[in-house]
Amino acid sequence: MSQVHVTRRYRFCAAHRLHTDLLSPQENWAVFGKCNNPNGHGHNYVVLVTIISGTPQGVGTIERLDHIVNDTIIERFDHHDLNGDPAFAVLTTTGENLVKVIWEILQPLLPAGSLRKIGVIETRDNYFEYAGST
Ligand SMILES: [Zn+2]
Repeated sequence: MSQVHVTRRYRFCAAHRLHTDLLSPQENWAVFGKCNNPNGHGHNYVVLVTIISGTPQGVGTIERLDHIVNDTIIERFDHHDLNGDPAFAVLTTTGENLVKVIWEILQPLLPAGSLRKIGVIETRDNYFEYAGST
């Protein structure tokens, strides 16, 4: 059976600081470098959401996805400090964790099995990708 996947691109701007209370200030600096600066810094994040195209015509699939992503991801993170979000209460705001958090938010809201991959572009050179735990 052939499946068509569709990927939609979304954007949000957010601040963060790479820091964990599990490490000393010196260790945080050693691990995260300038990203540990107490003042934080911002990124223009790009989120790529890949799903199975729902119907042969794809009618309504994109619109529905846009609605869900805007309501649960963009509204939540755009122009916010990721370190203050409950999802990161015990997680460092790395791209690795962010891509998994976005997957965990979206996966239950989409038809079973339809979410295939989340990608997060954090900087020009950093891209993170997650396709679930299976
Ligand atoms: Zn950063």
